[in-house]
Amino acid sequence: MGIIVQKFGGTSVATKESRERVIKHIKAELTSGNQVVVVVSAMGRKGDPYATDTLIEHIKQNDNQLQKREMDLLLSCGEIISAATLSSMLNAQGIDNTVLLGGQAGIITNDNFSNAQIKTIHPKRIYEGLKQNKVVIVTGFQGMTDQGDITTLGRGGSDTTATALGVALHADMVDIFTDVNGIMSADPRIVQNPEHLKVVTYDEICHLAYQGAKVIHPRAVEIAMEEQIPIRVRSTFSNDEGTLVTSLTEVKKRTQKSEINERIITGIAHVPNIAQIKVFAKEGQYDLQLKVFNAMAEHKISVDFINVNPIGVVFTVHEEDLDQALKILSNMNYEPQVIRNCAKISIIGAGMAGVPGVMAKIVKALTENDIQILQSADSHTTIWVLVHGENMKKAVSALHQTFFDK
Ligand code: ADP
Ligand code: MG
Repeated sequence: MGIIVQKFGGTSVATKESRERVIKHIKAELTSGNQVVVVVSAMGRKGDPYATDTLIEHIKQNDNQLQKREMDLLLSCGEIISAATLSSMLNAQGIDNTVLLGGQAGIITNDNFSNAQIKTIHPKRIYEGLKQNKVVIVTGFQGMTDQGDITTLGRGGSDTTATALGVALHADMVDIFTDVNGIMSADPRIVQNPEHLKVVTYDEICHLAYQGAKVIHPRAVEIAMEEQIPIRVRSTFSNDEGTLVTSLTEVKKRTQKSEINERIITGIAHVPNIAQIKVFAKEGQYDLQLKVFNAMAEHKISVDFINVNPIGVVFTVHEEDLDQALKILSNMNYEPQVIRNCAKISIIGAGMAGVPGVMAKIVKALTENDIQILQSADSHTTIWVLVHGENMKKAVSALHQTFFDK
């Protein structure tokens, strides 16, 4: 008998029908003799009555003056409603269960409201519930400070709740249930027939997730990786095994001809809503780069895709930070050039290091599709290209075709 943590995302708990599917997955583990800890997200997506985005919208319509601590109090309600709803349905089917808030489950965080970090977990009450043969439902995305204030863990926070509990409970498996059949070589909403990845390493998926593949939160993967707790990403709406995320050693054991070594590209990820800023240096202005980046850092604007050259600097910011960035630069008497609405596309694969011709293939795929490359960069595991936002889908598809269609 082992402990399984099952996390169900927004669409998985959105309707009565989907919650019936959730209960099937819980029952399956109970029948196999496992103890089950369930982590739930808020029900549904933007526009649904109790979704996180709906709660944010609600307060926007009511003067939007909530302080950060109280905002977290409000945001935590979505998961509470979701947990209570599932509990009621489990009761109706005679499955004994108990609901714990993040804090009651022992998840202690710092007081960085809206984006709190987990400091420690004391899962005493989870163990008590399990000992009484109960399914323990924990509200995802939230914790509690030492002072007893409710905090939330930032977007994708329920994934983090699940893997952090997995580590604290020494779980046999953390199942991330969502609306797709696992991790694909690109977002299935953009690419028609992405390749399904059966087994991937923590590292590979971390890279994909950090570059925008939002199927799982990268922090959640890192937490599991530290203690080597296996994760499965799978669909609530099928019985497919999904994608196993584990260590390189395990991956090698499980893949027959060590596919992992043959895999040059793991996947392609994309991030929309990025702006490119170019600042040109005037004659003799050697400290331009330093001044620009210091100013951005001072205002907590995160910059990416940085190219420094004798002519000046090029970098990107999130579209939401653009106005502030431009104001800062204008106050410094710079006249930057801006391209709004860009998208960053990342081609990721631990196997690409030293393989010749990867960049050439990327350029060919994009040029043949009349897609201008605004900027590019590379590391030993990733190549990034910046394109106009209107070309994003076309670019992801073209690159996917180049590397995956046989
Ligand atoms: P949940 O609410 O269950 O957490 P999310 O919307 O956060 O669900 O994550 C699932 C979504 O991630 C999918 O619907 C899919 O569109 C998207 N996604 C992005 N990149 C990938 C990828 N490489 N593989 C699978 N899904 C991806
Ligand atoms: Mg998610």
